[in-house]
Amino acid sequence: MKRRTFLQSSAALAAVPLLRNTPPGAALALGASQAPLRVNGARLNGWLAKFDSVGRTPTGINRVGYSDADLAGRAFTLDLFREAGLNPRIDTAGNILGRLDGTDRSLKPILIGSHVDSVTDGGNFDGPVGSFGAIEVARSLREQNVRLRHPLEVVVWTNEEGGTVGSRSAIGHITPADLDKVARSGKTIREGIGLVGGNVAKLSEAERKKGDLACYMELHIEQGGLLEKAGLQIGVVEGIVGLRWFEVTITGFANHAGTTPMDQRQDAMLAAAKFAVAVNEAVRGVPGRTVATIGRMVVSPNTTNVIPGQVVLTVDLRDLDAAKITHFTDRFAQIGQEIGTATKTTFDIKQSVDTAPAISDPKVMAWIDGAAAALGFTRQRMPSGAGHDAQEMSRIAPMAMIFVPSVGGISHSPKEFTKPEDVVNGADVLLNAVIAADRAST
Ligand SMILES: [Zn+2]
Repeated sequence: MKRRTFLQSSAALAAVPLLRNTPPGAALALGASQAPLRVNGARLNGWLAKFDSVGRTPTGINRVGYSDADLAGRAFTLDLFREAGLNPRIDTAGNILGRLDGTDRSLKPILIGSHVDSVTDGGNFDGPVGSFGAIEVARSLREQNVRLRHPLEVVVWTNEEGGTVGSRSAIGHITPADLDKVARSGKTIREGIGLVGGNVAKLSEAERKKGDLACYMELHIEQGGLLEKAGLQIGVVEGIVGLRWFEVTITGFANHAGTTPMDQRQDAMLAAAKFAVAVNEAVRGVPGRTVATIGRMVVSPNTTNVIPGQVVLTVDLRDLDAAKITHFTDRFAQIGQEIGTATKTTFDIKQSVDTAPAISDPKVMAWIDGAAAALGFTRQRMPSGAGHDAQEMSRIAPMAMIFVPSVGGISHSPKEFTKPEDVVNGADVLLNAVIAADRAST
């Protein structure tokens, strides 16, 4: 179907009313005089409600990658692919993929999706909202007789919570050492991939190369409380923050707590406490969204009547801006040196993890923004503090994400909840962003 026919067939849908609070002219972002399409929201929420019983235990949702509950979740998901006419296949990494052909064979696929595995004692919304949302988008397009020029591929990545295993495989970033790691289910990733229908011996067949895709979009719950607090409906994700972990070893001198005068101590715990305060103040003193956390401290000898001789602590540093991450890496080293001098201790800082920020593509963000505007949704641009499959896809394709509010900002918890209307809003934005991407990209 050519572009003109597409417009004709979609003209029948122009009767779909715009929301009353749609700003004048906002629909232009999607294309002249076309009202936005809608997914079948009741159906989508029905799937989510049914899925809530898969892997549900007294302590939460337990669909950890490669577990029996994960397999049951994938079987449930495969049925949804089939019912949507998506003719699913499982790639060699174990990802589930379905496809709607486009009208122009020369165009690259638009890829949308998320994951259906969970953390231990997690909730039912982290992953399934975006996975089922993507299936619903494809099904709605078919039912509403809208044919895209591009192929539309729907993906459900395997074992996202175990370290974005499926999406990393799809960009060729899985090493043999990764495959030998033991997943939360107790199986190695190598065993797990086989179990879900993949084939580790042919893992490279699952790879997508840079430039293979028109774009990647992922709908996801926010997993934080910014949208709810601001009273906004949609988050347009500017990128997924980069992450650095440091292990800091502070060495002083263990000595008697009763006989050592206060001015003659080399107290590693005191130095650690000063460091914790200084790191917090340094980050808060610079405008922006940098976050730094000292989450673990091991004190030795950890005894009531001995001045601590050594403390090993960790720092978790995140920002969307790589320059800020570099800045604070240097700043923390400087702070350590200053506190070391003041407390007669030494600081040894080692970097253990370093993940670069994944920046969203401005075009893809504009399609999402335009779709949300046409639907009359309030929204803001924001970073994602949590990791997602989208961060891997950003290495090979223009990427952006759609966030919907998490009630109370709670996630990775059985209390995780996103209101049904917000789920539908997110899927509606995804649907119209796909259409915008189809029109705009080559
Ligand atoms: Zn997730």
